[in-house]
Amino acid sequence: MTDYKNLIDGKMVDNGEWLDVLNPANEQVVGRVPACGKDELDRAVAAARRAFKDWRKTSQEERQKVVQGIAAAIKDNADELFRLLTTEQGKPHAQAQQEIYGAAGLAAAQSTLTLDDVVNQDDDQRLSRTRRVPVGVVGGIVPWNFPVMMAIQKIVPALVAGCTIVLKPSPFTPLTTLRIAELIKDVVPAGTVNIITGEDHLGPIITEHPDIDKITFTGSTATGKKIMEGASGDLKRITLELGGNDASIVLPDADVEKVAEQLFWSSFSNAGQVCIAAKRVYIHKDIYDDLSKAIAEYAKSVVVGDGSHQGTGVGPIQNKKQYDRVLELIQDAKDNGYKFLTGGDKDPSGTGYYVPITILDNPPEDARIVAEEQFGPVMPLLKFDSIDEVIERANNSEYGLAGAVWTKDTDKGVEIAEQLETGTVWINEFMHLSPFSPFGGHKQSGFGAEYGVDGLKEFTYPQVITVKRDAVV
Ligand code: NAD
Repeated sequence: MTDYKNLIDGKMVDNGEWLDVLNPANEQVVGRVPACGKDELDRAVAAARRAFKDWRKTSQEERQKVVQGIAAAIKDNADELFRLLTTEQGKPHAQAQQEIYGAAGLAAAQSTLTLDDVVNQDDDQRLSRTRRVPVGVVGGIVPWNFPVMMAIQKIVPALVAGCTIVLKPSPFTPLTTLRIAELIKDVVPAGTVNIITGEDHLGPIITEHPDIDKITFTGSTATGKKIMEGASGDLKRITLELGGNDASIVLPDADVEKVAEQLFWSSFSNAGQVCIAAKRVYIHKDIYDDLSKAIAEYAKSVVVGDGSHQGTGVGPIQNKKQYDRVLELIQDAKDNGYKFLTGGDKDPSGTGYYVPITILDNPPEDARIVAEEQFGPVMPLLKFDSIDEVIERANNSEYGLAGAVWTKDTDKGVEIAEQLETGTVWINEFMHLSPFSPFGGHKQSGFGAEYGVDGLKEFTYPQVITVKRDAVV
């Protein structure tokens, strides 16, 4: 078992108090991290504030070089990092590898983003331009499903915009992030990036800290609401990436054999613990029987197990709390007599938080497994008759994160996409995010956006400077 330290003001430090981190595949302790509170947070924020004075004045090229250094540190150590990620998070090696290389790729790509001045007026009377200035010290709070990707998608735009950051990983998955902290310690100027660990109670202290100017948060909608409230005291800027109950809509012209496997992974990748996983799959009645059979058949070929074992396709649920919640939703489906195409019947006792791949056959629209975000390897397949009906059912949610339409007729797909109340809609794919396109939720799935220039802007204030040209002074 290894002790992982925090990064504060350019140094790896601990406070002598520790939190255990478990491997969800076997419930064994795999590492310890510092259990921090207000004192450590104050030190980290003070370091970030000091560093901000110089960092805000750096050129685009200097920032780009530092961020590219972060990308290289992750890429050069990818082998060690993806194995550690599987150990703490549970995801299979191949998916952990994707997350690590994805994070390095995101950092490299986003290092090139720029926020150019915009000229508002340029005539005989005035020259007026809008420039973007960094908001200051950012507090970043991330969840346990993509711990590395989420950390990088907060650290990188903060630095590119000229801000400094204090980041708090989830207490369930802090190890790989702290290993990256050690790797980038001498890449980033002291104090620009600080990473401190602690239990959930550290979150509100960050949100309410008087010397933090902005909160960027990814996690549940319930916590997002608390953050909005906590940040309101001094009107901190906030970006919230929250939950989703994303719908996939499969039209009757879709090729059953070809889409079955893709639909399976759109729901079961990372054991379903993806904010943008397909959490409700609506299939047209003409192909429902064939497609549901094909998905259930494909599911039989996928191995559930320890993510470090070769051949595992679906790992354990990341933590006990989420494991209990997913089992509760399966039990609710059983109690209500809903039909299972697969799963739902295995005794979940034993070591490790494993849930069998579970596919439900056309449960009612008000079933908990349809109406709530399951965040686990459980997929409800739902039958629909008409386009108008399915659009209404897909939009009948407090969430509005993403969705997908599957069809050979891509014009029709776009027409449906334009009627969905979500921040992202894919035609014939799922979960693709570009470093250059904004990603954010409608309704209770979020506030603001990450990625792309829109995401970068959220780390800045607009400042308008106007020169009166015909003035007499
Ligand atoms: P969570 O809200 O419980 O925790 C997220 C983070 O917030 C953790 O670091 C936690 O310690 C911290 N936290 C807890 N209470 C806090 C408080 N009162 N104030 C401030 N911080 C606090 O979420 P989770 O269980 O870790 O993640 C699962 C949820 O995250 C799902 O709902 C999922 O949809 C959502 N999610 C959304 C996105 C997205 O981009 N939209 C991405 C991944 C996950």
